Amino acid sequence: MIRDMAREFAETALKPGVIERDNKQHFPAELVSQMGELGFMGMQVDPNYGGGGMDTLSYVIAVEELSRWDASASVIVSVNNSLVCWGLNEFGTHEQKEKYLKPLALGEKVGAFCLSEPEAGSDATQQRTTAVDMGDHYLVNGTKNWITNGGRADTYLVMAHTDREKKHKGINCLIVEKDMEGFEVGPKEDKLGIRGSDTHSLNFNDVKVPKENRVGDDGFGFKFAMKTLNGGRIGIAAQALGIAAGAFDLALEYSKIRKAFGTEIFNHQAIQFKLADMKMELEAARALVYRAAWEKDQGMDYAASAAMAKLHASKTAMFCADQAIQIHGGNGYVKEYHVERFLRDAKITEIYEGTSEIQRMTIARSLR
Ligand SMILES: Cc1cc2nc3c(=O)[nH]c(=O)nc-3n(C[C@H](O)[C@H](O)[C@H](O)COP(=O)(O)OP(=O)(O)OC[C@H]3O[C@@H](n4cnc5c(N)ncnc54)[C@H](O)[C@@H]3O)c2cc1C
Repeated sequence: MIRDMAREFAETALKPGVIERDNKQHFPAELVSQMGELGFMGMQVDPNYGGGGMDTLSYVIAVEELSRWDASASVIVSVNNSLVCWGLNEFGTHEQKEKYLKPLALGEKVGAFCLSEPEAGSDATQQRTTAVDMGDHYLVNGTKNWITNGGRADTYLVMAHTDREKKHKGINCLIVEKDMEGFEVGPKEDKLGIRGSDTHSLNFNDVKVPKENRVGDDGFGFKFAMKTLNGGRIGIAAQALGIAAGAFDLALEYSKIRKAFGTEIFNHQAIQFKLADMKMELEAARALVYRAAWEKDQGMDYAASAAMAKLHASKTAMFCADQAIQIHGGNGYVKEYHVERFLRDAKITEIYEGTSEIQRMTIARSLR
């Protein structure tokens, strides 16, 4: 049911304007509201706080389907669900859930997850943003970059150092509201892909954040971020899977229409072999993504499975998008046929929420 609903929404609502949004880097605010009404923005959140109370498998199926047409829309969904709502649902206080989680889960507000900094990407322990303990509040200073939903969010989960001596154990996660004094959104990034998503740097200049906005105990911020990212990776793996599936579908359809040398190009074995390889990689990626989601739902340690799912699905997205362009010939190289966008969108899945190199490190760590 979830797959059917997400697929129909992707075909009828996301597909029609997707090329124009990509061209103009247009954030699909109206579509985000609609996705909220359909329950896609807080799928795993406790129903008492406005969510769908669903499992991870349901969530990844929705992200996969949305990504078949619009990976920009699906990353808005993925960040809101896995990086913001999940952590608040799991570790937030009742008051934080009432005030912040509920409107995020209902899609009335949008969330952002702020870990990366100019000097802290893959090595997130190198946080320069500070949150000085002032008694009843923290004083936050610093810069975050590459923040998805950066200019459009209402609620920001911000990692910052309170006690540098304690290294990563001195990092806290604070809930920052967009209207707090001293909070400033930097310029929008002009990106290769997922151009409909809104990516900004953020500046914090003496932002006063009340103590009650800290998520978890003092020093829990780094652990919070890593736990959240483990789940987030399954969401990005699902995004990559959807891109691969979308590219495969279009390539298959085109191969049965386009004729060369007196027959549909599907009848040339070279094209059949490309489609066979695409289908095989796609199904392997799907099995890894669903398995990681299932392991998470079973309460198992799913870190390595999530890393394998993201690593393989992102490679598959790149492979399938590239092959889909080749199968489309010249038509594959222009925007009208969608597959060139799939290749540009696929690339980010090898970079954010841990690059492919970082996923390999996580997998290798599990082999010690
Ligand atoms: C469009 C977009 C959206 C994003 N959204 C968010 C967001 O919402 N929130 C957020 O916090 N961040 C976000 N990010 C940031 C993203 O997570 C980081 O870009 C990513 O983690 C990589 O960090 P970096 O760019 O600093 O690269 P670096 O860490 O500088 O890495 C550069 C290269 O070195 C490699 N490398 C680094 N260390 C090692 C190592 N030990 N061994 C082998 N290779 C290594 C990396 O794999 C990479 O290939 C986003 C980024 C982009 C581009």
